[in-house]
Amino acid sequence: MHLDFSPEDLAFQQEVRTFIAENYPAELRGKQDEGDELSKEDFLSWHKVLAKKGWIAPAWPVEYGGTGWTATQKYIWSEETARADCIRLMPFGLSMVGPVIYTFGTPEQKAKYLPGILSGDVWWCQGYSEPGSGSDLASLRTKAVRDGDHYVVNGQKTWTTMAQHADWGFFLVRTDPDAKQQEGISFLLIDMKSPGITVRPIITLGGEHEVNEVWLEDVRVPVENRIYEENKGWTCAKFLLAHERTGIAGVAASKRGIEKVKTIARTELDGDQPLIANAFFKRKIAELEMDLTALEFTELRSLAGESAGKGPGPESSLLKIKGSEIQQRLTELTLEAVGHYGAPYFRGFGEGDNAHPIGPDYAHRAAPTYFNTRKTTIYGGSNEIQRNIIAKMVLGL
Ligand SMILES: Cc1cc2nc3c(=O)[nH]c(=O)nc-3n(C[C@H](O)[C@H](O)[C@H](O)COP(=O)(O)OP(=O)(O)OC[C@H]3O[C@@H](n4cnc5c(N)ncnc54)[C@H](O)[C@@H]3O)c2cc1C
Repeated sequence: MHLDFSPEDLAFQQEVRTFIAENYPAELRGKQDEGDELSKEDFLSWHKVLAKKGWIAPAWPVEYGGTGWTATQKYIWSEETARADCIRLMPFGLSMVGPVIYTFGTPEQKAKYLPGILSGDVWWCQGYSEPGSGSDLASLRTKAVRDGDHYVVNGQKTWTTMAQHADWGFFLVRTDPDAKQQEGISFLLIDMKSPGITVRPIITLGGEHEVNEVWLEDVRVPVENRIYEENKGWTCAKFLLAHERTGIAGVAASKRGIEKVKTIARTELDGDQPLIANAFFKRKIAELEMDLTALEFTELRSLAGESAGKGPGPESSLLKIKGSEIQQRLTELTLEAVGHYGAPYFRGFGEGDNAHPIGPDYAHRAAPTYFNTRKTTIYGGSNEIQRNIIAKMVLGL
């Protein structure tokens, strides 16, 4: 992959910049910068703009609605959307179940589910984790028993992100209780409006409603909603996790995050000097920038491999570890930079609070964002588990 932009790449970069400037929804501008909680409508408004333009799924093959961009164009796209602080897109359809469906689904399943993912009309959630089955996912106990042309599903999922908005969920269920753990699992698509599904909120440390418990009681799911073969769902599950982990690195967003921290550190004082002049703080920023640059080159190698036809492999674990640690270090530096202005917001001012904000605007979300970002080293498979994967699959230990 060449990083010197050709005249065509520079023209593409300009096209992207102009498109974002003219089409990014006005009501979203600045929202992410200020760390505001984003609603379902917020997520969908940007999604729909991109869907209309045909730019919603750059990673997908063209035949299923992808853009056909080169690796460099994809890189430019992620840089430009981060530079403009565009909100992230929900990954559950686009980066997770979509690739599973176009890779393992039947022609009927592709025709039924892919258009709704691209258009944003169908909101998906991921039903993998269960109480006691997170890292050890293959021990999951939610069971699906065949009854004619249906499965009857019973069990509990947890940490199900944004399930409160979901129209559909992709679930791992046990279809053969007697088989070896990984071999008795199937991958089911379940309509979240099915009778027997209950979604209960879990409120996080930052005060947000982002994750849920999902209970399934005698939920009837047509057999035709199963992706791939019965008891072979682990193949889809692993494929999906590798895609999930690559997307989690968030390099472009972290680059913008570093710029934000620098801006704050230029404004905040340390004694009678700007904080940015403090040698210790400056060193922390420099270390973070160096680690991020190294991660960026690793991600580019992985992107180049993908455009040469190699799917994301175990190296996506490396991207996940370093990307998530950098995201956390960024929130730590921001909290350090805003100092005591962060303290009143340790649980965030929730909806309905009418207390007058204290301190500069950039301080208000520093603490909730810091707490919320503790999740990044846990979700998508914890970083300890990623280290185990690298030890086994990359280093052969
Ligand atoms: C904010 C958030 C959103 C999430 N969203 C979703 C979602 O949408 N859908 C979904 O299905 N899941 C979701 N998850 C669940 C997530 O995938 C799990 O939390 C994660 O896999 C860890 O599992 P666990 O919580 O059961 O922890 P455990 O597996 O109990 O692990 C506890 C600790 O032990 C360590 N550990 C466990 N086993 C080993 C080992 N073999 N070697 C070394 N260390 C080990 C772990 O690293 C961790 O530190 C989400 C989690 C969070 C926090």
